[in-house]
Amino acid sequence: MYQALLANAKFHEQLLVFDRDLAAAARAARCWRCGGALHSASYERKPRGGPTGLGPEYAERFSFCCAVDGCRKRKTPPSFRFLGRKVYLATVVTLISVMLLGTTPSRLARLTEVPGIDRGTLERWRSWWRSTFTEGAFAQVARAALAPAPDISRLPASLLERFVGAITDQLISLLRFMAPLSGGRSAMRAL
Ligand SMILES: [Zn+2]
Repeated sequence: MYQALLANAKFHEQLLVFDRDLAAAARAARCWRCGGALHSASYERKPRGGPTGLGPEYAERFSFCCAVDGCRKRKTPPSFRFLGRKVYLATVVTLISVMLLGTTPSRLARLTEVPGIDRGTLERWRSWWRSTFTEGAFAQVARAALAPAPDISRLPASLLERFVGAITDQLISLLRFMAPLSGGRSAMRAL
Protein backbone atom coordinates (compact mmCIF):
# COMPACT_ATOMS: atom_id res chain seq x y z
CA MET A 1 0.00 0.00 0.00
CA TYR A 2 2.72 2.46 1.00
CA GLN A 3 4.94 1.39 -1.85
CA ALA A 4 2.16 1.89 -4.38
CA LEU A 5 1.77 5.41 -3.08
CA LEU A 6 5.51 6.06 -3.34
CA ALA A 7 5.42 4.96 -6.98
CA ASN A 8 2.31 7.01 -7.75
CA ALA A 9 3.38 9.93 -9.98
CA LYS A 10 -0.10 11.43 -9.97
CA PHE A 11 -0.10 11.72 -6.19
CA HIS A 12 3.31 13.39 -6.28
CA GLU A 13 2.14 15.81 -8.99
CA GLN A 14 -0.69 16.82 -6.66
CA LEU A 15 1.87 17.75 -3.99
CA LEU A 16 3.57 19.99 -6.56
CA VAL A 17 0.22 21.73 -7.18
CA PHE A 18 -0.08 22.36 -3.42
CA ASP A 19 3.48 23.73 -3.34
CA ARG A 20 2.72 26.06 -6.25
CA ASP A 21 -0.29 27.40 -4.32
CA LEU A 22 1.80 27.94 -1.18
CA ALA A 23 4.46 29.69 -3.26
CA ALA A 24 1.89 31.97 -4.90
CA ALA A 25 0.43 32.89 -1.49
CA ALA A 26 3.90 33.59 -0.07
CA ARG A 27 4.73 35.81 -3.02
CA ALA A 28 1.42 37.69 -2.78
CA ALA A 29 2.08 38.38 0.93
CA ARG A 30 5.32 40.19 -0.08
CA CYS A 31 8.47 40.56 2.01
CA TRP A 32 7.82 39.72 5.69
CA ARG A 33 10.35 42.32 6.82
CA CYS A 34 9.87 45.38 4.60
CA GLY A 35 6.78 44.63 2.52
CA GLY A 36 8.75 44.78 -0.71
CA ALA A 37 8.00 42.74 -3.83
CA LEU A 38 9.45 39.24 -4.02
CA HIS A 39 11.50 37.81 -6.85
CA SER A 40 11.77 34.13 -7.58
CA ALA A 41 14.98 32.62 -6.19
CA SER A 42 14.30 28.89 -6.14
CA TYR A 43 16.79 26.34 -4.91
CA GLU A 44 17.67 23.45 -7.12
CA ARG A 45 17.18 20.12 -5.41
CA LYS A 46 17.77 16.56 -6.50
CA PRO A 47 14.75 14.89 -4.97
CA ARG A 48 15.47 11.23 -4.26
CA GLY A 49 13.22 8.24 -3.85
CA GLY A 50 10.17 9.43 -5.76
CA PRO A 51 8.41 7.88 -8.76
CA THR A 52 9.96 8.10 -12.19
CA GLY A 53 8.66 10.55 -14.75
CA LEU A 54 8.37 13.65 -12.58
CA GLY A 55 9.10 16.82 -14.54
CA PRO A 56 12.09 19.15 -14.03
CA GLU A 57 9.97 21.54 -11.93
CA TYR A 58 9.86 18.84 -9.27
CA ALA A 59 13.52 19.55 -8.52
CA GLU A 60 12.70 23.17 -7.74
CA ARG A 61 12.35 24.17 -4.10
CA PHE A 62 10.32 27.33 -4.42
CA SER A 63 11.87 30.29 -2.66
CA PHE A 64 11.86 34.06 -3.01
CA CYS A 65 14.10 37.01 -2.39
CA CYS A 66 13.03 40.56 -1.53
CA ALA A 67 13.63 42.90 -4.47
CA VAL A 68 14.39 45.91 -2.26
CA ASP A 69 18.04 46.96 -2.12
CA GLY A 70 19.40 46.71 1.41
CA CYS A 71 16.77 44.14 2.41
CA ARG A 72 16.96 41.16 0.02
CA LYS A 73 15.40 39.01 2.73
CA ARG A 74 14.75 35.47 1.64
CA LYS A 75 11.36 33.86 2.05
CA THR A 76 10.88 30.14 1.59
CA PRO A 77 7.27 28.97 1.74
CA PRO A 78 6.28 25.70 3.42
CA SER A 79 6.41 22.61 1.23
CA PHE A 80 4.52 19.36 0.82
CA ARG A 81 7.39 17.84 -1.17
CA PHE A 82 10.47 18.62 0.87
CA LEU A 83 11.00 18.02 4.56
CA GLY A 84 13.58 20.40 5.99
CA ARG A 85 16.87 19.90 4.19
CA LYS A 86 16.41 16.21 3.53
CA VAL A 87 17.46 15.00 0.08
CA TYR A 88 14.76 12.34 0.01
CA LEU A 89 11.24 13.48 -0.72
CA ALA A 90 8.94 14.07 2.27
CA THR A 91 6.73 11.19 1.14
CA VAL A 92 9.73 8.85 1.18
CA VAL A 93 11.05 9.99 4.57
CA THR A 94 7.58 9.49 6.01
CA LEU A 95 6.36 6.27 4.41
CA ILE A 96 9.65 4.38 4.52
CA SER A 97 10.01 5.33 8.18
CA VAL A 98 6.51 3.97 8.84
CA MET A 99 7.15 0.77 6.87
CA LEU A 100 10.41 0.05 8.63
CA LEU A 101 9.26 0.93 12.12
CA GLY A 102 10.45 -1.76 14.46
CA THR A 103 12.56 -3.42 11.78
CA THR A 104 15.56 -5.25 13.14
CA PRO A 105 19.01 -4.37 11.78
CA SER A 106 19.37 -7.81 10.18
CA ARG A 107 16.09 -7.52 8.35
CA LEU A 108 16.96 -4.02 7.27
CA ALA A 109 20.22 -5.30 5.81
CA ARG A 110 18.26 -7.66 3.56
CA LEU A 111 15.84 -5.10 2.27
CA THR A 112 15.90 -4.58 -1.44
CA GLU A 113 12.72 -2.59 -1.92
CA VAL A 114 14.31 0.67 -0.83
CA PRO A 115 17.58 1.02 -2.75
CA GLY A 116 20.00 3.53 -1.30
CA ILE A 117 18.32 3.70 2.06
CA ASP A 118 20.63 1.94 4.46
CA ARG A 119 20.59 1.45 8.18
CA GLY A 120 22.45 4.70 8.83
CA THR A 121 19.97 6.74 6.79
CA LEU A 122 17.01 5.18 8.55
CA GLU A 123 18.53 5.76 11.97
CA ARG A 124 19.12 9.41 11.09
CA TRP A 125 15.47 9.70 10.04
CA ARG A 126 14.30 8.07 13.26
CA SER A 127 16.29 10.45 15.42
CA TRP A 128 15.12 13.37 13.25
CA TRP A 129 11.45 12.45 13.84
CA ARG A 130 12.14 12.06 17.55
CA SER A 131 13.95 15.38 17.97
CA THR A 132 11.41 17.22 15.80
CA PHE A 133 8.71 16.33 18.34
CA THR A 134 10.79 16.79 21.48
CA GLU A 135 13.04 19.82 20.87
CA GLY A 136 12.57 23.30 19.52
CA ALA A 137 9.77 25.64 18.58
CA PHE A 138 7.97 23.27 16.20
CA ALA A 139 7.83 20.53 18.86
CA GLN A 140 5.99 22.84 21.26
CA VAL A 141 3.44 23.92 18.68
CA ALA A 142 2.99 20.38 17.35
CA ARG A 143 2.53 18.74 20.75
CA ALA A 144 0.00 21.37 21.77
CA ALA A 145 -1.92 20.93 18.53
CA LEU A 146 -1.98 17.14 18.85
CA ALA A 147 -2.54 16.81 22.60
CA PRO A 148 -2.04 14.20 23.79
CA ALA A 149 1.37 14.11 22.10
CA PRO A 150 1.94 11.15 19.77
CA ASP A 151 3.99 8.17 20.95
CA ILE A 152 7.52 9.40 20.22
CA SER A 153 8.94 5.89 19.84
CA ARG A 154 6.43 5.10 17.09
CA LEU A 155 6.86 8.22 14.96
CA PRO A 156 5.88 8.86 12.24
CA ALA A 157 3.26 6.06 12.33
CA SER A 158 1.78 7.47 15.54
CA LEU A 159 1.41 10.82 13.78
CA LEU A 160 -0.09 9.38 10.59
CA GLU A 161 -2.75 7.59 12.69
CA ARG A 162 -3.97 10.93 14.01
CA PHE A 163 -5.35 11.87 10.62
CA VAL A 164 -8.53 10.46 9.13
CA GLY A 165 -9.41 9.12 5.71
CA ALA A 166 -7.68 6.98 3.12
CA ILE A 167 -3.89 6.71 3.26
CA THR A 168 -3.56 9.47 0.64
CA ASP A 169 -5.66 11.83 2.79
CA GLN A 170 -3.74 10.87 5.92
CA LEU A 171 -0.42 11.48 4.23
CA ILE A 172 -1.49 14.85 2.81
CA SER A 173 -2.72 15.90 6.27
CA LEU A 174 0.59 14.81 7.79
CA LEU A 175 2.60 16.71 5.18
CA ARG A 176 0.44 19.79 5.70
CA PHE A 177 1.05 19.51 9.44
CA MET A 178 4.81 19.21 8.92
CA ALA A 179 5.00 21.86 6.18
CA PRO A 180 5.77 24.88 8.41
CA LEU A 181 8.92 23.08 9.47
CA SER A 182 10.32 23.22 5.95
CA GLY A 183 9.51 26.88 5.46
CA GLY A 184 11.91 28.19 8.07
CA ARG A 185 11.26 30.76 10.72
CA SER A 186 9.36 33.16 8.49
CA ALA A 187 6.92 30.39 7.58
CA MET A 188 6.38 29.46 11.23
CA ARG A 189 5.49 33.07 11.88
CA ALA A 190 3.04 33.21 9.01
CA LEU A 191 1.02 30.23 10.28
ZN1 LIG B 1 12.32 43.18 2.12
